[in-house]
Amino acid sequence: MKLSEHLSIYLRSIKMTLGASKKFMFCIFADEVLSAVMPYVPVWFSARLVDGLIAGDSADTLVLLAVAGVFLTFAISTLRNFITSVESMAEYDVYTLERWSYSKKALEMAYESIEDRETKHLLERIKKETQTGWNRFYLYRSYREITFSVTQILAGIGMSASFFALSSFSLWGKLGLVALFAATVAVNMFTENKVQASKNRFWESAIDMNVLDDKCSSFIKDYTSGMDIRLYGMEDNLDTIMYSCDRKFGMEGAKQRMKESLMKLPSDFMLQGLKLALYAVLISAALLGEVSVGSIAKYVSCVILVLGAFNELARILTITATNNHYLKRYFSYFDIPNNMYQGSLTVEKRDDAEYDVEFENVSFKYPGSETYALKNVSLKFRVGQKLAVVGENGSGKTTFIKLLCRLYDPTEGRILLNGVDIKKYDYDEYMSIFSVVFQDFRLFSFTLGQNVATASNYDPEKVTDALEKSGFSQRLSELPHGLDTYLYRDVSDSGIELSGGEAQKIALARALYKNAPFLVLDEPTAALDPLSEAEIYARFNEIAGIRTAIYISHRLSSTRFCDDILVFHNGNVIQRGSHDELVSSNGKYAELWNAQAQYYK
Ligand code: ADP
Repeated sequence: MKLSEHLSIYLRSIKMTLGASKKFMFCIFADEVLSAVMPYVPVWFSARLVDGLIAGDSADTLVLLAVAGVFLTFAISTLRNFITSVESMAEYDVYTLERWSYSKKALEMAYESIEDRETKHLLERIKKETQTGWNRFYLYRSYREITFSVTQILAGIGMSASFFALSSFSLWGKLGLVALFAATVAVNMFTENKVQASKNRFWESAIDMNVLDDKCSSFIKDYTSGMDIRLYGMEDNLDTIMYSCDRKFGMEGAKQRMKESLMKLPSDFMLQGLKLALYAVLISAALLGEVSVGSIAKYVSCVILVLGAFNELARILTITATNNHYLKRYFSYFDIPNNMYQGSLTVEKRDDAEYDVEFENVSFKYPGSETYALKNVSLKFRVGQKLAVVGENGSGKTTFIKLLCRLYDPTEGRILLNGVDIKKYDYDEYMSIFSVVFQDFRLFSFTLGQNVATASNYDPEKVTDALEKSGFSQRLSELPHGLDTYLYRDVSDSGIELSGGEAQKIALARALYKNAPFLVLDEPTAALDPLSEAEIYARFNEIAGIRTAIYISHRLSSTRFCDDILVFHNGNVIQRGSHDELVSSNGKYAELWNAQAQYYK
């Protein structure tokens, strides 16, 4: 990464933190400046006291000096305590805002990006890296340590400037000392860089190991996988994987620490050499009477503090440079563009739900896929009708619905609503005309009422009505807290567990509550028992009302009652008609029907 890129990432990070909380930044800055000057207070006062004692200053002056030194240290430390408490409150705000930023980004992103394996992997990596200390943690640390080191270097140089005015040393002697100091700093920086690079390689290699370890531990913690783990006796296998991950991590970590200590040996050696040279120079200056006894301790302390600060600065700059690589990845997630064309047309509100939909030679490939999931699909819906979409698994039925609902845009061709390309409509408005129950729908650990209404404030009568239509009313009447009953036990101990069929009925009620002109049910009866399934078919026309309803299934018995049936095969619509027409023609539908019929007889 070039220096300019490092700078631009770092500046963006500062802007981001300032945007989240200026108070937080100010507290970091103030706290670190105070913390950096604090060690110089006793150094200065002690030197002054020793010199005062030797010079025979009055007792009053000495006591005043001692009290002033103690008071100043106390004042700085009290101020720091106050600043730290304000800072920790502000840090909580920054942390909350950052957590929310992930959700906000996910909500703004095109669905295509969220579903993309690369995006998921990227997000998982960023979260893992953040958990292991990169990104936010090191960023704040770098603000702190850069402020601290720079202040300490400036204060130290300021306090020891008089050393360079000593006349007992030649200019060459002073320059030699400065050169030795610079060489020690340079060797330290170089070593720190190497150590950090080696550390990074170690953490890079550890990330995959940790991801596997975390996955295993989340399987174990997630009670939904508890059944499979027990039933298939997976405990030993999970235990072995986790144990070997931990052991490998522990052993590799110990080796890494040993390697780092060896790498640091030469720079530690140089540091001790510098200290020796400094003592030699100061003691000989003191013998010549040019340096007071108090100043010896002052100069040595200053040089050691400044050297330490340079080392710290070198270390934190190296870590900051590494962290910039992680921040680059972090920002790349937030920079994922939403390339879906955002139209602005409003969708015409029609009481009669007369919406006319046409697929015009539509083809589609999933992002990153070479093969077409849909190829040259052209069709028109007869508005208000009950349309069935059938076909074997993988034939393109769900993809067809995802395109219709604009979760993806077609790779080729157009989809028209009332004659206008759906891309031209306002995205949220267009979404609002669909109620969809996907095969892999999700319910949330909120109350039943909130799940159906997808809101905290809702009309209980409307929710109850939707639940009745979806066939959930009997179970509802048995629930002690009615609509206020929590689903699952994540939030409340009195929450209820749901069978697959019950969950599907609630998802259907959610779709009905939305009351959108299009109702799409993707394999809606797959988890229902035969009685509930029969009930839904019998009342399907009543449930759908005047809406255009699309009913997807690979079970042909369940779509018989629809007047218009589309048959998908390998991403194409190969047949269309009523059940009777399709059964009597010698095509895919008849083949599937006859193959499945043996189970219905
Ligand atoms: P159906 O609903 O008829 O079972 P789908 O529409 O889900 O079929 O799938 C059609 C084709 O698209 C299949 O080959 C499937 O493997 C592929 N497919 C579905 N979802 C994705 C995805 N997110 N990424 C890549 N390919 C997918």
